[in-house]
Amino acid sequence: MAFKQLVAATMLGLAVMPAQAALNVFACEPEWADLARALVPDADIHTATSAQQDPHYIEARPSLIAAMRRADIAVCTGASLEAGWLPALISRASNRDVQPGKPGLFFTAEQVSLHQPHDHVDRSMGDVHPEGDPHIHLDPDRLPVVVDALADRLVALAPSDENAIRLRQRQWQVRWKLDTARWRQAADNLGGLSVAVQHSTFGYLLRWLSVESAIDLEPKPGLPPSASHLSDVLSDPALARVKLILIATYQDERPARWLANQTQLPIEVLPGTVNDQPETDSLAELIDHLIDRLAHHQKAADHG
Ligand SMILES: [Zn+2]
Repeated sequence: MAFKQLVAATMLGLAVMPAQAALNVFACEPEWADLARALVPDADIHTATSAQQDPHYIEARPSLIAAMRRADIAVCTGASLEAGWLPALISRASNRDVQPGKPGLFFTAEQVSLHQPHDHVDRSMGDVHPEGDPHIHLDPDRLPVVVDALADRLVALAPSDENAIRLRQRQWQVRWKLDTARWRQAADNLGGLSVAVQHSTFGYLLRWLSVESAIDLEPKPGLPPSASHLSDVLSDPALARVKLILIATYQDERPARWLANQTQLPIEVLPGTVNDQPETDSLAELIDHLIDRLAHHQKAADHG
C-alpha cells in the first residue's frame, strides 16, 4: 500500500471506528430486537424470526447458525417457546459465549413471573412444557422488568458502554411509563370485551386490558385448530359473548374465516410482534395499534 493510501486509510479508520467494536446481538424474536435497539442502538442486531413466522417452529438455517456464531449475546424468550429450534442452533453454532448458563444467553421469560402453565406442545417431540405462557412481549407491566434486566446484562458484557446504556434505559422507562398511563386509560373503555383468539399470542396484553379470551381456536396450546374442535367452539356458550375474532399475521386464517362465516363475527389479523410497518415497528406502537383496533370493535359492538 502506498504511503498516501496508508495515511488515508488510517485517518478514515480513526474517523469511523468506534473505540470498541459494537456489540453483536442475536434476537430470537423481533420484540427483543426492538428492546436491544433501544438500549444499544449501535449494536449489530440480527433477528431470527419475523412477524410473518411462527416463532415456535423455524428451521436452524445456515444463515442463522452463522449469525449465532458471531453473537456476543442472544436475547430469546425462553420458557420453551424456542424449544423446537434454539437448542439445535446453539449447539451447531458452538459459540462458547452463547451457551446455557453464560451471560451471553439471555432469556426474557426468566426475568418475570408467567401466567398459567402453557402446556406448550412441541410438535417435533410431542413434549409438554410446564414453565408457563412464554408470550410476555406485549405486557405493559412485564416489559420494564425485562428492560432493566437486559440493561444489566448488556452493561456486564460491555462495561465501557455503561453510561450510554443506563441513560437509554432511563429514557425508555420514562417513555414507557407515559405510554402505560395512556394504555391504562384506553383499558377503561375495553373492559367487558370478549374475543376469540388462536393461541395466547396476545394473551398478556388482553388480560392487562381486561379483555376476555373467551374462545381459543386451538384445541390445546400449540395444536392447530381441528374440525372437531371448531364444531365444539360453535356450540360453546361463551361464543355468544364474543365480539371479535383476533388472530396474528403468521397464523393460518382459514379456521378464523370459517368461524366468521358461521357467526358473522368480524376478524382482525394483526401482527403478533413488531414488523417493518410504520404503525407497528416498535413495541409501544404495536400496543397502541392493537388497542386502537380493539377499541374500534368495542365501539362497533356497542352501536351494533
Ligand atoms: Zn406459544
